[in-house]
Amino acid sequence: MLLENLEKVEERIVRAAQRAGRKRDEITLIAVTKVFPVSAIHDAYALGLREFGENYVQEFEGKYASTLPLNDARFHLIGHLQSNKSKKAGEMFQVIQTLDSVKLARRLSELNVPLEVMIEVKLSEEESKHGAAPEELPALVEGIRGCANLRLTGLMTMPPWSEDPEAPRPYFRRLRALAAQHGLQKLSMGMTNDFETAIEEGATHVRIGTALFGKRQKK
Ligand SMILES: *Cc1c(COP(=O)(O)O)cnc(C)c1O
Repeated sequence: MLLENLEKVEERIVRAAQRAGRKRDEITLIAVTKVFPVSAIHDAYALGLREFGENYVQEFEGKYASTLPLNDARFHLIGHLQSNKSKKAGEMFQVIQTLDSVKLARRLSELNVPLEVMIEVKLSEEESKHGAAPEELPALVEGIRGCANLRLTGLMTMPPWSEDPEAPRPYFRRLRALAAQHGLQKLSMGMTNDFETAIEEGATHVRIGTALFGKRQKK
């Protein structure tokens, strides 16, 4: 079933890229394995996937040892990071996509391991969302660029959930404009419900869970 799902997702990525006049290889598929057992990571790896997204530091701690043999796999933290978990996160993940403060950036840099980071940008007023406001970006970008062990590569966002895949388009456009303003190349945007729209708007990283692994049990 994973193979079939992957083939369908692949086909949709290719078609969306074509519509936008982009090349398939400009887009990285991140398999989001949160809530699923570590076997989901191994199954996806066996099918050739190498980039994985997890939301919770604590949950990934339980899977981490089993992923060590997959030494060319890269793990992205895509959920909010609390500063008391930053050490663990820096040890286990290659990419932190959810940086939203200079304080957290400094903590990560102090771990003395090279880390790729992205800034999570909050583009809507929803209470529950984390991320930096667009107005905070100039200072945040400068602060992170001053951290010796961090390599800032892009922006990440999560628009308000909507059934309508067109609804997030303005948010994706906005993120792209903000990234361009700050000279950042990578755009992590688009999930199961809206990844084609995100690709049309320039996504370089789509984060896909449900379309690959099926519905998640509530945590
Ligand atoms: C869960 C999650 C995803 C994947 O969502 P799906 O709709 O299952 O594809 C992507 N990004 C973030 C930040 C998530 O929390």
